Parts: sequence; C-alpha cells; structure tokens
Amino acid sequence: MELVILGSGTCSPNPARMAPGYFLTIGSTRLLIDPGPGAVGRAVAMGLDPYEADAVALTHNHLDHSADMLPFLFSRKNCRRSSAVEDIRIFAPRGFTADFAKLMEVYGRLIVSDNYRIVIEEMGANEWEEPSFSIRSAPVLHSGSAVGYRFSKAGGPSLAYSGDTGYCEEIVELARGADILLIECSYPDGTMTDGHMTPSEVAVVAKESGAGSVVITHLQPEMDVGEAVRIIRSSGYRGEVTAAEDGMRIRI
Ligand SMILES: [Zn+2]
Ligand SMILES: [Zn+2]
Repeated sequence: MELVILGSGTCSPNPARMAPGYFLTIGSTRLLIDPGPGAVGRAVAMGLDPYEADAVALTHNHLDHSADMLPFLFSRKNCRRSSAVEDIRIFAPRGFTADFAKLMEVYGRLIVSDNYRIVIEEMGANEWEEPSFSIRSAPVLHSGSAVGYRFSKAGGPSLAYSGDTGYCEEIVELARGADILLIECSYPDGTMTDGHMTPSEVAVVAKESGAGSVVITHLQPEMDVGEAVRIIRSSGYRGEVTAAEDGMRIRI
C-alpha cells in the first residue's frame, strides 16, 4: 500500500498546507480519499494520474473534504478518453445517496458519462469487502453521519483514517492494531476543539489503539506542529509519530 498526502491542512487558507486530500494505492486499486478543493490538480502535480482512481472515499460532506468530487467527475467525463466502461465507486456516510441525487438534479448532465457508472456505497458501522482488500467504517464524533475508515489489504497491512473527529471509542477501535493511523490533529492543546482533536487527545487514541505508527494531519495554521509531535512522543506512546506534509509518500 502507498499513501500520498495531497493536502495536510484544513478549510483555513494556508499555502503550506492545502485542504485535505489523500491518494491511496492498495494493490491494483486506487482510492481518492476526502478530495478537498484542488486535490485533483495536486495529485497531477505529485505525478499521480487521478483518472486511475477506482473509487472516492468521503468521510463527511464538509467542503474541505469533498469539494473536488464533482470537478473530479466532470474532468473524468470530459478529459479522459476511454472506450471501456468502468465503475467509479463512491464510499460515503449514510444519507449520501439522497444528497447525491440533489447534486444530480443540478449537475447530472455534466457528470454522467457513458464511460463510467457511479456506484454509491453508504458506510456507517460496517465493512465492505473485495477479495484483495476491505474497507471498514465507523461513525465518529463530528458533524452529521461522519465516519472514519480502515483500509486493509487482504492478508496485508492496514491504514486507519480518522476523517474529522473528536475523541471517541470508535476511532480507537478503527485504529486498533492498524499499521498506520492517519489522524486529524486540528488544534493545539488548551483550545476549543469541539469535534476535533488536540495532540494530547491524539496521544490517548494512539496509546489505546496500539496503532503501529501515527501520522497527524488536518493541521490548522496556528498549530505548532513540532510541539504537537513532541507531545505525542512524550506521552508514552511507543510507535513512530510524524506530521503529514503535502506531497509526502508513505509506504505501508
Ligand atoms: Zn475538515
Ligand atoms: Zn469537518
């Protein structure tokens, strides 16, 4: 598996850390995860072909995590020449099918194509399996029906991803024993964090879950990233702790 960080920031404009976006390769499958604004263009800038994505995985409908979904489909319809008909699977929280139907009323003609079928998989507390990999989801402590995911290669490694969340048991369970926990760490300790995490809370999840290593992401501009990493490392957590950077590639 390989994870490429397209954006390690938030909705706060920050040229050093763009809005969320992740490109995950699991064997021959490629997933565009939480494509925030500009994520598709950044994938190209990082040497990836976004049209190779077989699926999009959304954790919730906040625009910093989902704004590039429609441009991705529009671009794929108009800019990729292919005679094969492919499925584009969209993994998304409960209620997405109804939300997507409303988007189709406005944009349907622009994103429906003879070259692909859009297949929606609503995810809550469940698991979706293929022979080569699986995706487990769980509701997390954020807006609406937000979920976190765990992506696992069959017989191989796994990546847990929090999306946006405050501390909750569900993210601990998703991350339990995962090789890598990619986890939001939006705000410094001592600040208001409703539905988000601080370094000390990330440290608790890291220790309770026993994840092999931790990568913090969704970092607000005011976050002292070095201090955040230091807090988690000094908490007693034994795994490796790193901060995501835009363009970072992580072998799993
Ligand atoms: Zn966010
Ligand atoms: Zn959010």
